[in-house]
Amino acid sequence: MERVYNFAAGPSTLALPVLERAQKEMLCYGSTGMSVMEMTHRSKMYTDIYDAAVAELKTLMAIPDNYEVIFMQGGATLQFSGVPLNMMVKGVADYVDSGNFAHLAAEEAKRYGQVNVIASSREDNYTYIPEVKNFTEGADYVYITTNNTIYGTRYTAIPKCASPLVADMSSNILSEVYNMNDFGVVFAGAQKNIGPSGLCIMIIRKDLLGNAMPACPKLMDWKVEVEKGSMYNTPNTWGIYMAKLTFDWLIENGGVAEMEKRNIEKAKLLYDCIDNSKLFKNTVKPEFRSRMNVTFVTGDKDKDEAFVKAATAAGLMNIKGHRAVGGMRASIYNAMPIEGVKALVDFMQKYEAQAK
Ligand SMILES: *Cc1c(COP(=O)(O)O)cnc(C)c1O
Repeated sequence: MERVYNFAAGPSTLALPVLERAQKEMLCYGSTGMSVMEMTHRSKMYTDIYDAAVAELKTLMAIPDNYEVIFMQGGATLQFSGVPLNMMVKGVADYVDSGNFAHLAAEEAKRYGQVNVIASSREDNYTYIPEVKNFTEGADYVYITTNNTIYGTRYTAIPKCASPLVADMSSNILSEVYNMNDFGVVFAGAQKNIGPSGLCIMIIRKDLLGNAMPACPKLMDWKVEVEKGSMYNTPNTWGIYMAKLTFDWLIENGGVAEMEKRNIEKAKLLYDCIDNSKLFKNTVKPEFRSRMNVTFVTGDKDKDEAFVKAATAAGLMNIKGHRAVGGMRASIYNAMPIEGVKALVDFMQKYEAQAK
């Protein structure tokens, strides 16, 4: 059985060397005589894996010493609650509504305090990143989503604001170089660019810890998790191990700067194909095009469906767009090799030529 090219938005394709190493180590990790899944999280054999995962992420993202890294559960969505529960000290926060997940996060935060939606592209079907200004003076934080997975847009500039900036980086973490000092908190569900679902990577500036509301569940209190090394309860040990294998792979392949270079090249191939096509078009404002999630449509539902079906038959899997937008979406995260993008482009060109 040959592996297909998997363009799913998440869980999504992982780097083959990562999967092969997990397979090799499945029954016996090093000289431990057991699988990582069978290790107690309190053992040195496991805490060595955990410590290495934290250290490697710090290296990859050049995370300064005044930030903590923790691994939480509940995916990215639990932090839609975790952010206000840990940060709404004064009870007011600014949100930018740039996509479905940003919208959900703002809606959730309303349960805990006042949410000011300071910019939104919701009325325009999220086809661009709205201009972010008009910050609320003294807001507890400003919340953005750096890449909009469903609509296929990305921030090209990170807003500068006086309040700490919180970023949901679920669908583009480790895909481009960021300056961590621009952010107070970064979080990301692992299943797009890192590893298995359910795991959430969190990077938190130290001065923002210790403000959890009294009602905040202890398991969601960032300070508790920092103090316990992500082990207030049993962590997602396997997920953290898989994340570490991806971090190893990233380091071996030149790190985030090299990934960014490759991602620009991959995205350009696909957008050029779409722009040169008479059948397909991309509907987001070009300057905000995502490098991770490339959306396109024919403009006709039946034609979209026929294309998705043909692509699937050709081994180009999961390019159906999100149910909220329809059309097609090719997610081309770090682990998607350029060969996969070339195969898709080649298929699109041949398909269009035949459709004439
Ligand atoms: C996928 C995604 C989420 C949701 O992640 P879960 O792990 O399913 O909770 C949140 N935000 C963004 C930007 C995403 O891409």
